[in-house]
Amino acid sequence: MEMNKNVQTFVGCDKEYEDAQIVIFGAPFDSTTSYRPGTRFASQAIRTESIGLETYSPYQDYDLVQCSVFDSGDLTLPFGSAERALEEIYDHTKHILSDDKVPFMIGGEHTVTFGAVRAVYEKYPDLHIIHFDAHTDLRDTYYGEYLSHATVIKRCYDLVGDGKIFSFGIRSGARDEFIFAEQHNYIEKNTCETLMEIIPNLGEVPVYLTVDLDVLDPSHFPGTGTPEAGGITFTQLLDAILHISHLRIVGMDVNELAPIYDQSGASTALACKITRESLIALSKNRLR
Ligand code: MN
Ligand code: MN
Repeated sequence: MEMNKNVQTFVGCDKEYEDAQIVIFGAPFDSTTSYRPGTRFASQAIRTESIGLETYSPYQDYDLVQCSVFDSGDLTLPFGSAERALEEIYDHTKHILSDDKVPFMIGGEHTVTFGAVRAVYEKYPDLHIIHFDAHTDLRDTYYGEYLSHATVIKRCYDLVGDGKIFSFGIRSGARDEFIFAEQHNYIEKNTCETLMEIIPNLGEVPVYLTVDLDVLDPSHFPGTGTPEAGGITFTQLLDAILHISHLRIVGMDVNELAPIYDQSGASTALACKITRESLIALSKNRLR
């Protein structure tokens, strides 16, 4: 009888690193979370629950086992230091990019995005960012902190500059943040209906997609630290990701799942499905 190593990957993502087009990694960091922590448990919960998920997508008529995805596990991050955690994420992302693969990060709180975006921006200076979130995340500092999940999109803006960030589903933030977004970025409040007008304009520019899952309505996705009523549905988010995947996606993350706030497990199951669909869409539409 042949025995295998006890290594858990996201379901169907058991390709070798050398052959992979996409590399998954977990960034279990939640130290700056402003309300309820718990996102540090997301990546392991997603791997465990993914076992209950089919690898076949009826939405895309494609199977995840046809895709070349390597799961590199979770980073070991210092919980007390956002700087050092982001440094680790930056290094890991840079490594993946240097081998011409696409990083796919599972947060963690949204702050982790800045570590990955720094590395992706270094490789692609014309980087554009598509951002799904309930929150603007555009504060310059939060309780005096420069690195926080309330400042992460501002940090990304400081890198990529004017006209490069497109935010959808936003329904919470300070007034100044909304004014800033309207002046410097693109923002659609509450919904993502104008996405289809934006996509053709992006053409072949490199795009990083960051999905803060609290963009979803809490009735679909209660398992998050800062739930905001009035969000989009699972179907709307899935549809958006399937369209965005036709763009030149050079990196992606899903973040802000906090499994413990949804004891039914439905939020984690949703995050698994968004992960499966994203991996298939990226493989199928851009990477072959
Ligand atoms: Mn966010
Ligand atoms: Mn959010």
